[in-house]
Amino acid sequence: MPRRAFERALERITHAAEHSDIPDEACQRLAHPKAALTVSVPVRMDGGRLKLFTGHRVQHSDLLGPGKGGLRFHPDVDLDECSALALWMTCKCAVMDLPYGGAKGGIEVDPRELSMAEVERLSRAFIRQIADFIGPDRDIPAPDVYTNEHIMGWMMDEYGHAVRRHEPAVITGKPLALGGSAGRSEATGLGGQVCIQALAERQDWTPEETTVAIQGFGNAGQAVARHLHESGYPVVAVSDSGGAIHQADGLDVPAVIEAKNEGRSLKEIYCTHSVGEQENAERIDNEALLELDVDVLIPAALDDVITEDNAERIRAGTIVELANGPVTSDADRILEDQGTLVVPDILANAGGVTVSYYEWLQNRSGERWPERKVHKRLEKRMRRQFDRVMDLAEDRELSPRTAAYVLALERLGRAAQAVGTRDLYR
Ligand code: GLU
Repeated sequence: MPRRAFERALERITHAAEHSDIPDEACQRLAHPKAALTVSVPVRMDGGRLKLFTGHRVQHSDLLGPGKGGLRFHPDVDLDECSALALWMTCKCAVMDLPYGGAKGGIEVDPRELSMAEVERLSRAFIRQIADFIGPDRDIPAPDVYTNEHIMGWMMDEYGHAVRRHEPAVITGKPLALGGSAGRSEATGLGGQVCIQALAERQDWTPEETTVAIQGFGNAGQAVARHLHESGYPVVAVSDSGGAIHQADGLDVPAVIEAKNEGRSLKEIYCTHSVGEQENAERIDNEALLELDVDVLIPAALDDVITEDNAERIRAGTIVELANGPVTSDADRILEDQGTLVVPDILANAGGVTVSYYEWLQNRSGERWPERKVHKRLEKRMRRQFDRVMDLAEDRELSPRTAAYVLALERLGRAAQAVGTRDLYR
């Protein structure tokens, strides 16, 4: 029987706990999600037929603040996966020192099979079902895999109808016109780029000589590709679910992004040979992209793509996890033995939730910050937490992943100790 995703996620906490003096009781709390809700969501399809979908929302911990985390629309979504992802959000918010706990949710659906109107009805119906479970001081959803700002906008609007007041701070990642933050859509990619830049300074890399491959070309993958390209890094390969393209001297990233946003897959872009300077690009499969001899590999799609089956074949010296959970714990051990440096997801992809926090702050104070301010604050916070994790890793001879968990656990442990026995006497 494969081990459940939540158990596997918890293993990382248990391992880190051995390297910190976090009280046992804090660990015990983290071993169980605080609350979970599963709902069935009836949707009238375009043809008139009624279809029922299943959705979940898991609040893992509220030790450091209200739950925070995305909603994904994907056929593999289930309660176990949401619980694992919610636990990661608890740790991610703690690493970034944000006043949030962790939560996650989603709907078991392939949104690519639905019309836009059906996706809207599904999103609105789901939020009506979970309206009593979330709230700006309770649990604040955001975009995740296959959800976007339009969906967040519909959900925020529907929540407002349900509670009969305007409540923009209930959801982040909204369109600008509905109280979203400037710079939110770029944020995960930019955060990843800040980590790579900080690493480059520590390791004396020259951007022009540091090659990068990116697996996954959605929101985060495209943003990090653009930022790295603009900073001079050759992005030599990118992939989407249909395949990858590779060009040894660096792709014409803006041209690939433009073609992709016109609705073409990377496979089609390669086949037409007509995108910017892409004439010498070769088509490779997604497995081969992961195994390219590059300096930095950025998994930016789904979880479990680097496992014990392919870890030995990974030639990149550094992996920056822009996806949640792309490297399994078994693969971690192999990569550590072969000296691959992994910048862990709970740090590397935390740019998204950090700007979600800025959006929430703006909504609550009625302010609107310019993009420059948002990105500056993101860069500063990312740098500070990156340095803390890396310094801790060096000082205590830990992998950056374990160091990130230790940092998170120390913050969570202090909170657990401060609330003490509250639950026993209520
Ligand atoms: N879904 C993103 C993540 O996994 C963002 C979550 C948020 O902004 O709350 O970090």
